[in-house]
Amino acid sequence: MKNLRDFTLEELASEVASMGERPYRAEQIFRWVFMRRASGISAMTDVSKAFRERLAEGYEIRGNKLLDERRSPDGTRKFLSEIEDSSRIESVLISESGRLTLCVSSQAGCALGCRFCMTGMGGFVRNLSLAELSGQVFTAYEVLDEGEDISNVVLMGMGEPFANYGNVVRFTKVLTSNLGVNFSHNKVTVSTAGLVPAIKRFGEDSNVNLAVSLNATTDETRDRLMPVNRKYPLSELLTALRSYPLRQRRYITIEYVLLSGVNDSDDDARRLVRLLRGIRCKVNLIPFNPFPGATFERPPAGRVDSFHSIVKKAGYTVIVRASKGSEIQAACGQLRGAYPG
Ligand code: SF4
Repeated sequence: MKNLRDFTLEELASEVASMGERPYRAEQIFRWVFMRRASGISAMTDVSKAFRERLAEGYEIRGNKLLDERRSPDGTRKFLSEIEDSSRIESVLISESGRLTLCVSSQAGCALGCRFCMTGMGGFVRNLSLAELSGQVFTAYEVLDEGEDISNVVLMGMGEPFANYGNVVRFTKVLTSNLGVNFSHNKVTVSTAGLVPAIKRFGEDSNVNLAVSLNATTDETRDRLMPVNRKYPLSELLTALRSYPLRQRRYITIEYVLLSGVNDSDDDARRLVRLLRGIRCKVNLIPFNPFPGATFERPPAGRVDSFHSIVKKAGYTVIVRASKGSEIQAACGQLRGAYPG
């Protein structure tokens, strides 16, 4: 059985056409699946009974199976879900300054092996389908408290989104379609470790926000922290960002995990300022969240302040991201698709 959550509107239009039905049927179904979050074909009451019965012969709506939900004292919620082949993925809801941000995983595991990331240490399992990507949004909607709504979606969970490029682009289309989940383009962000060819394509294929996980100011350090840098070194990455097509008032987000004694010196901060010249960006500093077996440490608060003030004085918008959810291993770099203990 095909899963109706696995189709964009255009794809649904050709499915419907192959059944000899008129194109408006695709819009009706798409709306039921992604806007109204129907759990089954029988709920589609404005679709004729005869067509619903035909549809049900080859299609159904399947979601991810929520296995567990954990809440940390700061309000962060982490979901462990089982997907089609019994793989497990995690998604996180972060409540901050009146906003509720859903952090979605793009892959089960990750092949890029960043040294500061628990997902990377666990290896790669597989790419997530469109249904499994959107299923994380539906799971989150199901567990929201009364009066809550999701304000932003970020693809910063498990996996490298651009290593699952096709499904991630389709997902951003479903998320931002006004017949679909209907998020504004500037409320959706895709974060990459720096797959340069995909960055170039993404600027043409999607107009949601782009974030780049930079984390070092020299190739030597970045090679060590992020093996992907050996393939796409800093100069190539920064050139791609300089020519990235940004809409008016949009910025690229530069993420920088601060690791004590590794990339957090004042010299690093000054080099970062030089590297970012000519890129319209804002900077998120993320003091490292330790996890069991990690070989890095979180920098002392004074070091973070010093780094922050150098970047700020250079004229960049820079924030130190509060570590949300570290008590339940839901903070940045702490997702691994299984709960410890
Ligand atoms: S930081 Fe992102 S790209 Fe790097 S290993 Fe972790 S999940 Fe993969």
